[in-house]
Amino acid sequence: MKLELSKVVQGRCRLGQLKEMGRMGQHCLDIPGCLLYTHLGTVPHLTQDTLHTLSSLPTVTQVTLSNIAEHQDVLEEFKGGFKKFAGLHDTVLYCSLHDSAAQSPTGHTTNKTVSVWGSGGRIELTVAKFMALQRTVQPDWYQTMADGETWQTGISRKRVRKSVDRSLAHLDECLLVHQKSQELDGVSVFGVVEGGDILEERLRSARETAKRPVAGFCLDGFQNGAMDQALRSQLITAVTKELPEDKPRLLQGVGRPDEVLACVEAGVDLFEGFFPFQVTERGCALCFLFDITPDPESAGRARLTEVFGPNLNGDLNCDDQTHMTRFEMDLKDKRYQDDFRPLVEGCGCYCCRNHQRAYVHHLLVTNELLAGVLLMIHNTSHYNSFFRAVREALANDKMDLLRRQMGVCVCGCAAVCIITSP
Ligand SMILES: [Zn+2]
Repeated sequence: MKLELSKVVQGRCRLGQLKEMGRMGQHCLDIPGCLLYTHLGTVPHLTQDTLHTLSSLPTVTQVTLSNIAEHQDVLEEFKGGFKKFAGLHDTVLYCSLHDSAAQSPTGHTTNKTVSVWGSGGRIELTVAKFMALQRTVQPDWYQTMADGETWQTGISRKRVRKSVDRSLAHLDECLLVHQKSQELDGVSVFGVVEGGDILEERLRSARETAKRPVAGFCLDGFQNGAMDQALRSQLITAVTKELPEDKPRLLQGVGRPDEVLACVEAGVDLFEGFFPFQVTERGCALCFLFDITPDPESAGRARLTEVFGPNLNGDLNCDDQTHMTRFEMDLKDKRYQDDFRPLVEGCGCYCCRNHQRAYVHHLLVTNELLAGVLLMIHNTSHYNSFFRAVREALANDKMDLLRRQMGVCVCGCAAVCIITSP
């Protein structure tokens, strides 16, 4: 893969395109951008046919070893690789280690192993097993094995240092096997930057990983809830400064729109696309605004009131990391039972063109499977459109405007201080 930057704002916030992706080099992906989140190659709730009714889908499909590892025997017998096994065509397959939408138990890594958790429980991976899995999956791109158990608060400096050392050792071992594997010829490898919340360890991890022949970098240990945004931005800014400009940076575990925006400004190019799935699972619909057309100040305020009702502050204040965020509406709420508007006025997705909030509310309270299908269509579409808006805002020097539209503080602290202030 090859990264072409068309614009760099403030020395770190990047707009461009990843080109020559996939083994034949026929795919590209705009940055800042997100990957397509899947369970075993399928976007939850959606068949391939339904999925492809959505416009501007990410060209990269993400699968995780935590989902795949327990099916290794079947895949080995199948021989054709995971893409063929899952009926995926015309996509770049990226294989990551953990599923960011599911929190894994910790305390199971050793000097030589990392554990992933599938539906049948824990699977312990050595580098040999990890690389055997990659040869079986045959992705276009994968992250190397890493010890990422340093994202919780209160982790000691000694443990963080050990995680950086282990991840570098795993990286070297993976690269050694990779270079000898014919099956992995032409496959891109991303090294993983660890270091918890300790600046020196983050810098050491970034510098050492950058010395290795990797195609890009995964920034791990910054996931939701683990770190406040100011510290996260500060660490990512420092880390991305150490990384070569011509290689992409993928941030793991961060999906909230305000945090995405702050991390783009700290130098991140790529995000995982798990957030719309989490929103769907709690029966909610993404409804935040990102329209940066002229005169959005007054229009934005009017439309926000339209979406959330007149009590803006009340609706926007539910900000817990694991629960509903202020970027979504809870369609299980009784207030939507006779609301005959689309989920989001002006949204062109199948759900918004054909159904109203009242219908989706009814499907949710009666536990109909169609609720998840319609919400996933809308949420995936809305989230992808948000990334397009971020790229447009960067291209047209309108990031401040976008932040104001989304109700994010202009200082980048990810707080609500523009919309909610009188
Ligand atoms: Zn929609």
